[in-house]
Amino acid sequence: MDIKTTEERSHNMSKIRSSDTKPEKLIRSALFEKGYRFRLHRKDLPGSPDIVFPRKKAIIFIQGCFWHRHWCSRAKLPQSNIEFWDKKLNTNKIRDEKNKEALLKMGWRVLWVWQCSLTTMEKREKAVKQICDWLESSKTFEEIPQENKSSNNN
Ligand SMILES: [Zn+2]
Repeated sequence: MDIKTTEERSHNMSKIRSSDTKPEKLIRSALFEKGYRFRLHRKDLPGSPDIVFPRKKAIIFIQGCFWHRHWCSRAKLPQSNIEFWDKKLNTNKIRDEKNKEALLKMGWRVLWVWQCSLTTMEKREKAVKQICDWLESSKTFEEIPQENKSSNNN
């Protein structure tokens, strides 16, 4: 007997929907379940990194493909105000690179996880595995997904 009011039900639905649209949260809870402990949004570090693993000296940025100018199709420029967007997004890209370099110089390792690698549950599971592999490695910088230089089809 599962009788719920409409209000309750729609509340549940909205909860499901909002957590679905937050891949970053899902990644965080997956990592937490695996036993990783981290801090969030450290304002004292360049770029206020999203997820910081102090003991592992490792940092993860979850990068929105459009705002951070990924090479994937989700990052296509709008058809109007191209010049404005081009300039704005390039500024973001330059800032990202600067923050990355600064963090590497400070001895942190940096991982960029692009949002296009988190769009489905299957992709997220794969990404979590790659994140864990990276955390256990000694690689200083990596991106998920890794850039596929052989394919230039846009
Ligand atoms: Zn992307």
